[in-house]
Amino acid sequence: MKVITYGNPVLRKKAKRIKNINKDILRLVDNMFKTMHTNEPQGVGLAAPQVGVPIALFVYELDDDKGVIINPEIIERKGSEIGEEGCLSVPGVFGPVERATEIVVKAINLKGKRITLKLKGFKARVFQHETDHLNGILFTDYIKNIDDLEVEEGYELPEKLAERFRE
Ligand SMILES: [Zn+2]
Repeated sequence: MKVITYGNPVLRKKAKRIKNINKDILRLVDNMFKTMHTNEPQGVGLAAPQVGVPIALFVYELDDDKGVIINPEIIERKGSEIGEEGCLSVPGVFGPVERATEIVVKAINLKGKRITLKLKGFKARVFQHETDHLNGILFTDYIKNIDDLEVEEGYELPEKLAERFRE
């Protein structure tokens, strides 16, 4: 699957909640993991809207910890810290984002079971970033000054994103 990049309106839609986990969803999840692995640059998380499917689901993979999160809701946030983020939909671009240090997330897993997760640190950051995608929010929305963004060699700031700072 192709990862949709900054400027495409699908990234700004509020994702639909998932009611039942059918074969299409399982196939989508498989493809999303494959996409995350083969994409250049590689990512640690991918939300369904990033592959053009506006439903409330994301996958993540951090070292040997991977999973699928459906209909996530962050019900508690504690503390705050600033950390560098990037996004497969804004390839090669990085910037500092303030996130809660600890969160509690309610969601369902791929078996349809309700889960509540208490997370902190980097994993909490990834879950906040991916949950934002399901609400049409990108990490660059939090950047106030264009100089705070770092663009890796070989990449360019998307024109639409550059425009936002000129407004
Ligand atoms: Zn992202």
